[in-house]
Amino acid sequence: CGIVGYVGSKNAVPLLVEGLHRLEYRGYDSAGVAVAGPDGLGVHKTAGRVADLRRVIPDGLVGTTGIAHTRWATHGEPSDRNAHPHLDTKRRIAIVHNGVLENSDVLRKRLTGEGVELASDTDSEVLAHLIARSEESTLEEAVRDALSQVEGTYGIIAMDAENPGELIAARRGSPIVLGLGEKEMLIASDTAALVRFTEQVIYLEDDELATVTADGYRTSTSDSTDPRTTTRPPTALE
Ligand code: GLU
Repeated sequence: CGIVGYVGSKNAVPLLVEGLHRLEYRGYDSAGVAVAGPDGLGVHKTAGRVADLRRVIPDGLVGTTGIAHTRWATHGEPSDRNAHPHLDTKRRIAIVHNGVLENSDVLRKRLTGEGVELASDTDSEVLAHLIARSEESTLEEAVRDALSQVEGTYGIIAMDAENPGELIAARRGSPIVLGLGEKEMLIASDTAALVRFTEQVIYLEDDELATVTADGYRTSTSDSTDPRTTTRPPTALE
């Protein structure tokens, strides 16, 4: 339902939670956050409201790269374990996903057959495993590879805890917008989350992917058979 991501030099946690708060008006049943920090990957999620999420986030949680989500359940009941972000088995890749993956049953069965233990009942979780199990060497290529295997709609952000400082976002049928800051970047599903952060935004188009770091971003086609860089100037946020 709602997605926020941050990469920069500030602590991502308050920015992410504030972003989720600004997306609350869209409705949701659970909320969660994952940050890559000095203590590795910190993941905290809960059924309920953003206020409940604030209560489960430990004091002192820090990380300069992070992703967050408010969920409107489509596959799997609203619960702590079905809340996003979702992780791969090694807890290295974290993803948030908006939309519906139509072939998630087939992908879940395939992963289970390969010995993967799924931690939730969601359609979304398969993305974390597909990215982690990809043979591609970069996160960007691994996300392209994973997206080539899914059918349905998605707005996603993926993060690699072993290579923080970079987020990969992509969309098909579910909005994603980049907010351009000064040596920092925000990503969201809705410009409401970017208010007071930036006046410059880039709207991703369907089948487009963004590789985002504190220093900037690059957009490209998400099609793994034809990856091309795309460019256009930022749009002014009203
Ligand atoms: N289909 C996903 C789920 O049920 C994402 C739902 C959403 O867009 O919030 O977890």
